[in-house]
Amino acid sequence: MAALHRLRQAVRGLFDAAVTGRAPDPEWVASVNRVLAAAPVTTVLSWPAGGPPGREAVVAADAPVARALHRLADDAVTLLCGPDAGALSVCPAEGCARLLLRTHGRRQWCCTRCGDRVRAARHYARRRAATESAAAEEHGAAQNAGTAGRSTAAEGTASG
Ligand SMILES: [Zn+2]
Repeated sequence: MAALHRLRQAVRGLFDAAVTGRAPDPEWVASVNRVLAAAPVTTVLSWPAGGPPGREAVVAADAPVARALHRLADDAVTLLCGPDAGALSVCPAEGCARLLLRTHGRRQWCCTRCGDRVRAARHYARRRAATESAAAEEHGAAQNAGTAGRSTAAEGTASG
């Protein structure tokens, strides 16, 4: 499945280019276009009951591999050129480079595992920061025991 591997790499490159705003490698574009051109596609009229008529690209049924590749390439082109292109982003979780579609505002991570991992890391970092600052305060309080101690006591009586 070298063709599928090449296509997947090309699509990933194109999506990264869309996310970063960098110009895509012309070879990625050529890869996708080769797949689209290789599949025997016919445009047909589809008119479902109760729905509006539409155009549909249909790949010949006797070419299952070409059809699968065409579907992947065609979906990539639809996404890149469609209204959701701006919602394409890279998962911000550390160590993850998967892509996701931020189709609704709250979606931040590619999967719940990444979200949980990031929340756990934040929680750990907050706890560590709190422990460290508490330790630093103790250290500071011990150093300024004379003045700081008195002012704290004064505040205590004023407010109480
Ligand atoms: Zn992720």
